[in-house]
Amino acid sequence: MVKKIKQGPKVNINQPLIIAGPCSVENYDIMDKTVKFLKELGIEYIRGGAFKPRTSPYSFQGLGIEGLEILEDMKKKYGVKIVSEILDIRDLEEMIDSIDIIQVGSRNMYNYPLLKELGRIKKPILLKRGISATIDEWLNAAEYIALEGNTDIILCERGIRTFENYTRNTLDLNCVPVVKQRTNLAIIVDPSHGTGRRELVKPLSLAAIAAGADGLLIEVHPDPDNALSDGFQSLNFEEFKDTYNKVIATYHCVNTR
Ligand code: PEP
Ligand code: MN
Repeated sequence: MVKKIKQGPKVNINQPLIIAGPCSVENYDIMDKTVKFLKELGIEYIRGGAFKPRTSPYSFQGLGIEGLEILEDMKKKYGVKIVSEILDIRDLEEMIDSIDIIQVGSRNMYNYPLLKELGRIKKPILLKRGISATIDEWLNAAEYIALEGNTDIILCERGIRTFENYTRNTLDLNCVPVVKQRTNLAIIVDPSHGTGRRELVKPLSLAAIAAGADGLLIEVHPDPDNALSDGFQSLNFEEFKDTYNKVIATYHCVNTR
């Protein structure tokens, strides 16, 4: 049961929180192109993993510190805010100044020492749902952070593992109204990991907003077919623009009374 979380971060109810960018920070040019495009569209929060939790140890593991430096360059050049994943608590010191929202990935949702440490800092935490976590387990993970003092927590539904294997995961939109009814936390939805198929990202983005989500996390890449990670679920610029415009229209439709 969630006991301590009375107050989540202030979300702007006039607009959804949209976090977009490539799965991984691959190099300066790709990041520069992507951030320029997103900024022109009005996106304020840029994502990009410098430390990547890959299922195979032989897959691209991220650029590490070099990736963080590229993210910092983007912040300075475009005045955007940065969302990036922490894998290891030993990286916190390197990340704390440049990262505006620290992402805890699905694989780390049960890492209680990491959650507690993040509870002691003053930075918003984006807490992704564990791949097979129940809503209660997920809210308890949020509680681990909140109990240490940091209640600036945004939950992110990113799909759970089910028997269905057409999609990478099954996006559980049930959890959106459940979380809204049980907590004051903001909840956003990640249809990229939630489906693992780029052609499903737009319809599930709209469904998430219709279900009451406060925002979305979407993977975007200038050349998805050649991305170093998660290209199959990344939108190209044109697809993102179309999705974004429809998301904004749907959000205003759902949230005006
Ligand atoms: C990601 O956001 O790129 C990521 C690795 O997400 P998840 O932890 O949901 O798999
Ligand atoms: Mn990814």
